[in-house]
Amino acid sequence: MIIIMKPDATSSNIERVANYITDNGLQVHLSKGTEVTIIGIVGDKSRLSTENISIFEGVDRIVPVTESYKLSNRKFHPEPTSVKVGCTSIGPGNLTIMAGPCAVESNDQLMLIAKAVKASGATMLRGGAYKPRTSPYSFQGLEQDGLKYMQEAGEATGLATICEVVSQEAIEAAVKYVDMLQIGARNMQNFYLLKEAGKTGMPVLLKRGLCATIEEWLNAAEYIIAEGNPNVVLCERGIRTYETATRNTLDLSAVPVLREKTHLPIIVDPSHSTGSYRYVPAMAKAAVACDADGLMIEVHNNPACALSDGPQSLNFEKFDRLTSQLAPFCQIVGRSFQK
Ligand code: PEP
Ligand code: MN
Repeated sequence: MIIIMKPDATSSNIERVANYITDNGLQVHLSKGTEVTIIGIVGDKSRLSTENISIFEGVDRIVPVTESYKLSNRKFHPEPTSVKVGCTSIGPGNLTIMAGPCAVESNDQLMLIAKAVKASGATMLRGGAYKPRTSPYSFQGLEQDGLKYMQEAGEATGLATICEVVSQEAIEAAVKYVDMLQIGARNMQNFYLLKEAGKTGMPVLLKRGLCATIEEWLNAAEYIIAEGNPNVVLCERGIRTYETATRNTLDLSAVPVLREKTHLPIIVDPSHSTGSYRYVPAMAKAAVACDADGLMIEVHNNPACALSDGPQSLNFEKFDRLTSQLAPFCQIVGRSFQK
């Protein structure tokens, strides 16, 4: 349930309502907008009488929130959220491009890619140090060494860094070296991992599970925020359907649906969704046109020799051509993008 205060409600009006809620054993989430303040209530509402709340001074109306996710719900927090990562921000007004290899393969390789993606307009470097591969015989990642190379490449280029974490140990290591944690599609409903990522307080990119509904995805985000960490960004990366022409089916309609349902920023990954470098530019442009807050794109110096996801990786030239084409799409949706 949310309590919408009147535009002229005073801070003591707000405080009195908030205290009444916490005195009844529930949690308060305050959202102060330009016009009105919204007081969100989290917890067992059967402990509260709405009639009592409606008579408090300054209360305009009480609206039930029927969705199970509350803190990620746009009703609780009508203004879009911006999440700060290193020297960049993911959210309104900006187009964030996260680019880099699927897997960190060596220090030299990562440094080369970091410099190239930065020159083409990326503000974040992606790179996997822990790779959740379908086959146990595929390259599994450089783990802690990979994280160290991410830190070095981030420092050398000024790019903010993001790395996937797959376990508690990976989280403990990653917090020392990178700016943002990534929870991959396969772990979207690993609730223990979500809570641990939440406890770090670090920005978290939460990818959509392979078969997850939008509601399940927002509930997964709720696990992170419920640990006191509001720095959550969602990433649409395609879902499993009957279609086999692409690796997954990119659900671009998730972007406007999420805009209605949540205040969290939204990134689109055209690489894992299509599985082919040939389709990445078209879907990247479409994602910007439908007002995604950013893109996550796999880029490799030599895709044919990549240890992971070569077929969907763009080489430097293709990535540069793509970022050169983004300006008009950014303009349509009012985002700035400096190349
Ligand atoms: C990745 O980004 O490297 C990755 C494994 O993606 P996903 O979890 O979306 O499959
Ligand atoms: Mn990959």
